[in-house]
Parts: sequence; C-alpha cells; structure tokens
Amino acid sequence: MAYRFFQPISVDYGGQKRRGYRLDCGECGAGESIPFAPLKRNYGDDDGKTHTMIRRKFEGRGWVVGESPRQDRCPRCAAPKPITNANLDKPKLALALQENFKVTTTATQPATPAPAPQPRDMGIDDALLISTKLHEVYIDASKGYGEGWTDAKVASALNVPRAWVRDIREKQYGKGAAGNDDIDAAVAEARSLLSDCKVARDAAEQTIALVTKKIDALTATLTGLRERAGKIERAVHTVEQALR
Ligand SMILES: [Zn+2]
Repeated sequence: MAYRFFQPISVDYGGQKRRGYRLDCGECGAGESIPFAPLKRNYGDDDGKTHTMIRRKFEGRGWVVGESPRQDRCPRCAAPKPITNANLDKPKLALALQENFKVTTTATQPATPAPAPQPRDMGIDDALLISTKLHEVYIDASKGYGEGWTDAKVASALNVPRAWVRDIREKQYGKGAAGNDDIDAAVAEARSLLSDCKVARDAAEQTIALVTKKIDALTATLTGLRERAGKIERAVHTVEQALR
C-alpha cells in the first residue's frame, strides 16, 4: 500500500537535537516540527508503519496530511471556514464572478473617463461589493431577503443601480429567487387593480342609481298616460253611446 513518506530532520528539542519531522502548510506556509523517534525495531521498515505513526502524530495536532507536501494543510487552514466578509476569498470570488457573470474588470476599463456621466458598466469591484452585501442580508432563495432588505435598499446602500443588484442576486441565488422588490411590485399592482375595481364598482352603482331613477320616472309617466287613456276611452264610449 502506498503511504506518505516523511523525511527525518534534526529538530531542536529543549536545546537538544532530536530526530523529528516537519510539515509545511501548502496554503499559508506555516510549518511545525515535532520530535519523534520511532522505536528502534521499526527503523528501516518498509511497510510504512513508521510513516503512518508520523502521519497520525501530525493529524493528532490538527494537520491534514496530503498525498504530497503541497497538499499539507496546517490546523488553521484545515479548519472549515464559514463564509463571512472577513474571510471571503475575494480574489477567488472576483475571478469566479468574472468568469461566470461576464463582468468587466476595472483594469480593462478605459483610462479616459467618459465625457458625459453615462451609466457605466458593472465592474468587478461593483459585483464583489454587491455579492458581499448579499451574503450579509440575503437569507436564501426561498426566504429571500432578511427583514427590511430589498434590491432597492441594497442598491441605495451601495450607491449602485438596482438592476445590478437584481442581476447579481439572480446569478447568485437563481432566477426564481425571491427579491422582495418583485413581491412589492406584485402587491402594488394588485392594489392598483383593486383600486381600479372599486372605481368601476362605484361607477356601476351610480349608473344603476341613475337608471333606477329614470325607470321610476318612466313608470310614473306611464301610469299617468294609462289614466288619461282610460279617461279618453270612457269619453269615446260615452260619445258612441250618445250617437246611436
Ligand atoms: Zn496553513
């Protein structure tokens, strides 16, 4: 079985030189030396027992021992890191944003400023700024923003166009992700529709009232006409009787 081979070195141990081993972190370069003298009978063995013991010793101290020295990680670098603004790998994130979101880097932007204050393109710094802010105030795709936050609020807090915020949010959390602005807009539209409905209903009620009034008036007229017709009819009848 393949095993990681550790080269013995001389380690200072309380003023004395001891046989030991050293690992250097492949990420941050921090190193640690530990004195370790395996049992004599294990010297020169070729079954990797000694090396397995050395590996366990380092692992016991929090190291992640890789297959090659380049993959070794010190206890600090090996610890899982929650994403916070402090440890956000900005260069890496910037690169990912650049590759995936097709944003322009500030370095490639023309040095000469535009003559008129035109809406500029979103730069990598802008994307990074927005992305970092979203990490802070956006919960997840289903819950959307934390209380009180919206695309518009993030935009005004960072002094960037709202469309940029929506763009980064959608790219980071998905197109269907809830942006409270969208909900606000839907609610506003529903309110507006409701208001239109109320206006239409009021208009209909007024029309009905008018029509009702007219019908009443017509009914009254009709009654009068009927009475007159009745009188004329009776008069005609009387005249006919007289002429016979
Ligand atoms: Zn490290």
